[in-house]
Amino acid sequence: MADLDVAVVGAGFAGIYAVHAFRSAGLTVRAFEAGGGIGGTWFWNCYPGARCDVESKDYSYSFSPELEQDWSWSERYPAQPEVLRYLNHVADRFGLWPDIQLSTRVTAATWDPGSSHWTVTTGDGQRRTARFLISAVGCLSAYQVPSLPGLETFAGPWYHTSRWPRDGADFTGLRVGLIGTGSTGIQVAPEIAAVAEHLYVFQRTANFAVPNRNRAVDPDWERAFKADYRTYRKQAQESFLGVPIPGTGRPALTEPAEDVQRTLMARWQAGGGMPFLGAYTDVLVDRAANDIVAEFMRDRIRETVADPAVAGLLLPRAYPVGAKRLCQSDDYFAMFNRPTVTLVDIRSAPVSSVAPSGLRTADAFYELDALVFATGFDAISGALRQIDVRGTGGVSLAGEWAAGPRSYLGVAPAGFPNMFIVTGPGSPSVLSNMVLSIEQHVEWIRDCVLHADARGHATVEATPSAEDAWMAHVTEVAYSTLFPLADSWYTGANIPGKPRVFTPYLGGVGPYRARCDAVAAAGYEGFVFS
Ligand SMILES: Cc1cc2nc3c(=O)[nH]c(=O)nc-3n(C[C@H](O)[C@H](O)[C@H](O)COP(=O)(O)OP(=O)(O)OC[C@H]3O[C@@H](n4cnc5c(N)ncnc54)[C@H](O)[C@@H]3O)c2cc1C
Repeated sequence: MADLDVAVVGAGFAGIYAVHAFRSAGLTVRAFEAGGGIGGTWFWNCYPGARCDVESKDYSYSFSPELEQDWSWSERYPAQPEVLRYLNHVADRFGLWPDIQLSTRVTAATWDPGSSHWTVTTGDGQRRTARFLISAVGCLSAYQVPSLPGLETFAGPWYHTSRWPRDGADFTGLRVGLIGTGSTGIQVAPEIAAVAEHLYVFQRTANFAVPNRNRAVDPDWERAFKADYRTYRKQAQESFLGVPIPGTGRPALTEPAEDVQRTLMARWQAGGGMPFLGAYTDVLVDRAANDIVAEFMRDRIRETVADPAVAGLLLPRAYPVGAKRLCQSDDYFAMFNRPTVTLVDIRSAPVSSVAPSGLRTADAFYELDALVFATGFDAISGALRQIDVRGTGGVSLAGEWAAGPRSYLGVAPAGFPNMFIVTGPGSPSVLSNMVLSIEQHVEWIRDCVLHADARGHATVEATPSAEDAWMAHVTEVAYSTLFPLADSWYTGANIPGKPRVFTPYLGGVGPYRARCDAVAAAGYEGFVFS
């Protein structure tokens, strides 16, 4: 007999809910978490300025009506410490701690067809067996530091935003270099600029950002909103992105130009990325419509940044807006009006090396006391590929994914019986409100396991043909949009040598859920039970 019914790898939003869901279903479960605390993204990314960019009313669990009524968020977009407090509250409230093992990295997981068990090996050499293996390792948890010659010689401290010191980093009076201007770089930069003697922002790609218009949650609004939270959650489940967004429902290209500008401005003033991009139906599928929105955003940069040369460098032109994760900030562009902030264009003059006293680019040397890397993640597949996962016949998952990650329905890789991936490749994952997508996957996986158990099946496995057909569909949908036009982490373009495959599913959260439900209703079509 296996030690456990279910072994879960990771204890972020996904692992925490998996422990609760499986335990509530009467199964034995244990989550193994590499970090010294739970929370995943919200444990590791404790850099100043870290906050979510999906509103708190959406970016929270919906599985417990009592939890959603009792918990009050302080802000529209809460900062990292508050999200982490929330996740710890969930673990306390539902008594999850006994089934979570911290500071334990899973290094290998091996399928044994004889016993129909997975053997999970952890960094301390311990082994546990489980009937089912659930990866909750996160789409954005394998962080990336660029390999810069000489980094080891740098005399000052350097940090990656996803491994920030828990007691903080003090930049007061220092000359700081920041590399990376995506969502995280844009969040951390104004915080560093507020205290540093000088901040140098090394920019390879100029990115689009919309304002958050972050604000405290008004208690009257909260009361009124919570009165019908259940209906709202249902709308979220049926929506395209996992957040109900009242769009115009029309294409921008059929609207009079001045109406489009008025609509975009109203949404710009209200703040938030999803409502802004979701205003018109054609923005992410038609380049001409996309250009209208992109130019609107460039105009906002031109009117915010005083120096036209700096503004010019900040204008995003390399990709359609929305095809890379849309950044959100209330103060990033205005920060460049400070005399103590310098934008350095490393597209035209790349960083060549690090020296003890600073950074060398193709045309200059910058004296620095500290370096910050906001250089992101080996997304979607990176954390899982770091584990030696062996399926039927000892086949390695990393090997199977050499040409790009894949799985049936974004949840089950063929050739790996009794293994499921929460928000895996081929699911809406990073292009949705992830908490909602996580809940949907965990509940679907739990129901699939219970289905197998109820019928006395020891194994459940996706068929290769179902996986092939699903991934072909994922690709077809992606290529009907503008997303593949960007060199983004969605495609693996940020990792040297990684195959470029667009794996998030763009068919919409609601239709995706309906498809998963239909597969289950048809007796888990595309899966083989034995
Ligand atoms: C700064 C930042 C802001 C974000 N904001 C939003 C937002 O506003 N809205 C949104 O929808 N999404 C956002 N995301 C995406 C975010 O990752 C997800 O919303 C969500 O937190 C993912 O939860 P998870 O449990 O799937 O993964 P994670 O939170 O990444 O947790 C995975 C856990 O698995 C652990 N792990 C990995 N490998 C192993 C191993 N081998 N052994 C043991 N443990 C392991 C990791 O240590 C980690 O704790 C953001 C991401 C970042 C980085």
